[in-house]
Amino acid sequence: EQSSTAAKSEPDAPTKTTDEDEKDDKAAQSLLNKLIRSNLVNTTHQVEVLQRDPNSPLYSVKSFEELRLKPQLLQGVYALGFNRPSKIQETALPMMLAEPPQNLIAQSQSGTGKTAAFVLAMLSHVDPNKKYPQCLCVSPTYELALQTGKVIEQMGKHYPEVQLVYAIRGNKLQRGMKLQEQIVIGTPGTMLDWCIKFKFIDPKMIKVFVLDEADVMIATQGHQDQSIRIQRTLPKDCQMLLFSATFEESVWNFAKRIVPDPNIIKLKREEETLDTIKQYYVQCNSKEEKFQALCNIYGAITIAQAMVFCHTRKTAGWLAGELSREGHQVALLSGEMQVEQRAAVIDRFRDGKEKVLVTTNVCARGIDVEQVSVVINFDLPVDREGNPDNETYLHRIGRTGRFGKRGLAINMVDSKFAMNVLTRIQEHFNKKIEKLDTDDLDEIE
Ligand code: ADP
Repeated sequence: EQSSTAAKSEPDAPTKTTDEDEKDDKAAQSLLNKLIRSNLVNTTHQVEVLQRDPNSPLYSVKSFEELRLKPQLLQGVYALGFNRPSKIQETALPMMLAEPPQNLIAQSQSGTGKTAAFVLAMLSHVDPNKKYPQCLCVSPTYELALQTGKVIEQMGKHYPEVQLVYAIRGNKLQRGMKLQEQIVIGTPGTMLDWCIKFKFIDPKMIKVFVLDEADVMIATQGHQDQSIRIQRTLPKDCQMLLFSATFEESVWNFAKRIVPDPNIIKLKREEETLDTIKQYYVQCNSKEEKFQALCNIYGAITIAQAMVFCHTRKTAGWLAGELSREGHQVALLSGEMQVEQRAAVIDRFRDGKEKVLVTTNVCARGIDVEQVSVVINFDLPVDREGNPDNETYLHRIGRTGRFGKRGLAINMVDSKFAMNVLTRIQEHFNKKIEKLDTDDLDEIE
């Protein structure tokens, strides 16, 4: 009892896992989301705003024109296909573009327009005639820095006087040189070296400091300290901006150290529900039986597209092999694949090139399956201690009410242990999971 409670309160403590996929980290998930996302995430919630000065009026804009952006930037915005500001941009942009500049901490799930917002703020604040760095943006990884850099380049396409440089490993500069680019984007270690050790950047001239993906940042040892050390070298009146997809206590504590006197904007995540989902379970005795049941289900109903979740890479690989032997068009998403490869697999699946996507529990965490009508838990989601992972179950199967599409979820149970997990999931959501007889499948159609 004692030890399991202790383990739970320290989710970051190194735990021996049976599954290599656990290595899949937050940064990879975040990058994957960026690679596969081409649209804004829809939300029905309103932003919550906490102003540093509650007496000053709160501006919110419904169009980009109201922001009085430089024409070159407005052109960039339209070139990206943006017609109007996203929910978070409506409030964040006027705050970031205000004079005098205001500090901001903003939290909203990925895909809600944070990156586009701070990129626009950075581009608006630089003076293209001054040939030295004026904006610093730190990202948790090399790949994420490159992604954000791309957005800066696209948004600044019609504003070529503004230049960008990457402070990332491998980008070696000559000693003693001074950067001429107005915007520097990079990872905390290299950025710190460029400011302090090599003095390529004069931190005293920085007007805007952006810290992106704060929740991913603090998951990496050392990044927090490096970021704080960079921040300390900046002038008092430098605008500090921090963004995060989630906002647990640790992120908040970090954010307060990076951003003094902040305005705070939060946008609640759309809640997922199981209300429009029919949930079933199938009783089996082995993984072979589970496979047979899966084939029966496939034979009986017309499934547009399905995602199948397995606990380990090994099972996922085996199942994908068996399914394709049966003639199904199967895609496999696995932890040993590079993030770019995974993004390509997801893209193909989204385009309908494959009808079934087999994946491990960990690998597909946080990926939208909105279009998928059938979700099959070949193994039920459990945490490291073997307890039901209700959150993952909900995210995988649930739908946000707004879209309200009907869905079908089928859980494969092959042991007493799995049955116990299923019962607990059922109790947690207080929604019945019906037993399904795979020899008589009329009822699910
Ligand atoms: P976040 O940083 O919160 O993950 P992004 O800024 O990357 O969100 O935006 C998510 C996606 O939505 C991107 O593909 C981006 O190009 C697009 N996007 C951002 N702002 C807008 C907007 N105002 N209108 C339309 N699309 C937008």
